[in-house]
Amino acid sequence: MQQYIDSYDFTGKKAIVRVDFNVPLNEKFEITDDTRIRAAIPTLKKVLEKGGALIIMSHLGRPKKVDPKFSLKHIVDRVSERLGAPIQFADDCMKADEQAAALKPGEVLLLENLRYYAEEEGKPRGLADDATDEEKAAAKAAVKASQKEFVKKLASYADCYINDAFGTAHRAHASTALIAKYFPNDKMFGYLMEGEIKAIDHVLHEAERPLTAIVGGSKVSSKLAVLKNLVGKVDNLIIGGGMGYTFIKAQGGSIGNSLHEDDLMPDALAILEEAKAKGVKVYLSTEAVGTQEFSNEAETKVFSSCNIPDGWEGVDAGPHTLAAWKKVIDGSRTILWNGPVGVFEIPLFAKGTLRIAQDLAEVTAQGAYTLVGGGDSVAAVTQMGYADKVSYVSTGGGAMLEAIEGKELPGIAAIRE
Ligand code: AMP
Repeated sequence: MQQYIDSYDFTGKKAIVRVDFNVPLNEKFEITDDTRIRAAIPTLKKVLEKGGALIIMSHLGRPKKVDPKFSLKHIVDRVSERLGAPIQFADDCMKADEQAAALKPGEVLLLENLRYYAEEEGKPRGLADDATDEEKAAAKAAVKASQKEFVKKLASYADCYINDAFGTAHRAHASTALIAKYFPNDKMFGYLMEGEIKAIDHVLHEAERPLTAIVGGSKVSSKLAVLKNLVGKVDNLIIGGGMGYTFIKAQGGSIGNSLHEDDLMPDALAILEEAKAKGVKVYLSTEAVGTQEFSNEAETKVFSSCNIPDGWEGVDAGPHTLAAWKKVIDGSRTILWNGPVGVFEIPLFAKGTLRIAQDLAEVTAQGAYTLVGGGDSVAAVTQMGYADKVSYVSTGGGAMLEAIEGKELPGIAAIRE
């Protein structure tokens, strides 16, 4: 079983590489952010340097059929520029036999958008809204059956398989998971996947203690599985952002108009109980910055988080809370951060989130390990200019979230199996 590319001999081999080139395009089909392309370049270069040829595959957007808007043709020039090599293009990912067969060491072929085919995701398309359960089941069975041929065809182009698409690692799609079984001894993670996997393992399984998780964001419902998994692993749990108010209300606090989910209050209390039973310290916000309107010119007032008047909404953590959280951060050796602690999109309410980014940068400089992963905290840390001051910033929102939930990601499992 082969897992990482550094120990593989690519000489004379064709490698089919699943990357995440799902980059944003403007109305002129120009790439507005090529972070994802740049992230895959080290792996692609490595194969070429070691005497291999590349067959690159990816999805772009969510086409439901062949649709030129989502063609990977739009990105050929940029990939070529970043890779420093000419790129051939296969207009149809199912009809690339001849082009793949003709590839010589050092040459590169990019396949057209995998999601032009329903078989990539393995989900039926074009079902009528009023389709019966039987019709749905039959359509699903049909696409699953043709998916086998789809996977087999992709696999037939190459001698080895590399998965470097962390962004889709939580999906059991043809190119992210199913294809791996055709390469039992020649499948491996690319550098990006390797980095993500090591970061997750480091925090969830090998963390130097104390281990602290900072979980923020809008809703408890979207982070419930994250909280449930982390409460069994961490020493300290900081719960901030909009989701914190459900915890505060569940304990009898008055939270004014702050975001909350009444139906999640029993779950919030159960998490607090479990934390207590396991000796995990939970830090909620004790002081909130409140507002009456979502605007950068709004009047703000600082309230006790459990005493916010009606008409006011908690949108950021107050100074005393931030000072208390800083102490916890300073005393930690490993920190995982997921989700902003305020409405950071509005600069007036971004101070708490900025402060967390600064605190993490400081402890990282002092030798702590800090991982920012999953969702808007990544956007926040990048936007605020702290991405290179923490130990690792994950590239995969949904995938990282599922990893933090403790789930085994299909794209990872398929290589490890
Ligand atoms: P998530 O995708 O769950 O990480 O949530 C991110 C979103 O949570 C961002 O859009 C923030 O604006 C929002 N958020 C953070 N704190 C609050 C808050 N106190 N009230 C409302 N929304 C918040």
